[in-house]
Amino acid sequence: MYPSGEYSSDDEVSKAVTSPAPPVVLSFQGLFSFKDGVKDTILCSIDFEQVDHVRQGTDLARMSEIGVAIYDPRLVRSTPPGETSTTPNLNETFIQLVRSMIAYHIIIGEWQGMTENTCRAFWHKDRTNRSGMFMRGKAHTARPYHCQFARSTIMKRDEAIEWLKKLLKSLTTQILTAEESEKGEEREVRLLFWNSLLEDKIFHEAGIGLPEVGKNIQGWDLQSWMPFRCRFRGQAGGEKAFRSLGVLGTAPDTVLHNATNDATSQLLGLLRLLATSSEDEWETWLTQKVDLPPIALDWIDKSIYEHNINMSPEVTSRNRKSRQPRSNYGNRVQNQQLRRQPSLNNSMNAPITDNETDATPRPIMDSPVDENEAHGQKETENKNQQESGGS
Ligand SMILES: [Zn+2]
Repeated sequence: MYPSGEYSSDDEVSKAVTSPAPPVVLSFQGLFSFKDGVKDTILCSIDFEQVDHVRQGTDLARMSEIGVAIYDPRLVRSTPPGETSTTPNLNETFIQLVRSMIAYHIIIGEWQGMTENTCRAFWHKDRTNRSGMFMRGKAHTARPYHCQFARSTIMKRDEAIEWLKKLLKSLTTQILTAEESEKGEEREVRLLFWNSLLEDKIFHEAGIGLPEVGKNIQGWDLQSWMPFRCRFRGQAGGEKAFRSLGVLGTAPDTVLHNATNDATSQLLGLLRLLATSSEDEWETWLTQKVDLPPIALDWIDKSIYEHNINMSPEVTSRNRKSRQPRSNYGNRVQNQQLRRQPSLNNSMNAPITDNETDATPRPIMDSPVDENEAHGQKETENKNQQESGGS
């Protein structure tokens, strides 16, 4: 979630746990050193979304979605795992990189009925304040049923936190060489956040301590990373930053404010920078502030989006918003169009087979390892027929 500041929490902020920025990069040469440093690192991008109609309670209690997108160079590289390659595998073409990405999307069961069409928070409505001044309604941002990169799974909050802990733990020992296993070594894992404030707080509230998860797992706040700070002169909004790197594609493109779409965009943004092929390209983006051309998103399986949109709860007379704010009208119309004609009208290389469980998080693309095994993933009952909570 990219905090707008308007509905930020008044809760006590845990200042004890904050994710640092990735190592400083000031030049194209510096970018190469950085690339070399992460050539065997698992990059795991994480984003949480929250409901906005309640203000009280912890951030964890308000968490409504978990989005995860994972890139493991050992799933891309042609050299055997663990072997030091003289050519960093990030030099592979960008599309090869993104095709090895694995994404997961969890909708928190307690809030599964709360969507952009059912949320009844008063600030979404146009209104007149006490002084008689017209106040335009603020749009509801989270888009829980718009995940484009993984089939959504509904889990109760506690179950989802346990799933996340298990996933992170499994990454630390993913694709180890025999020698590494023997020595009890672990993979280097870097969690990527965009403005880590909310994610740091939720990790803290959920009792996910990275030192207990693994020996070499750490969070990075990408928004604070020097290239982004230089390009945008401070803290950039995620959408602006990712669009500048072309990773949101061309219209119809990525629907942001869905936890996994956001997490995937974060990951693609970093990979796109790492795949910068020349100093000219780097300087064009960083110094001349010219956006990189949009990437093709034709590798996304459009049936994923159709599936998730179809999971969204029916809007009934009970949960329908009493009045739609004007500012949200565009979104609403767009959503209805998307519902009829899901975006990403492209072919797909990894069709979902009929016998797959809808609720099972799956990779965007077929991966060379069994991700269920690799991530300790268990099948979870799809409870999407139930419409509960959040009213
Ligand atoms: Zn709302």
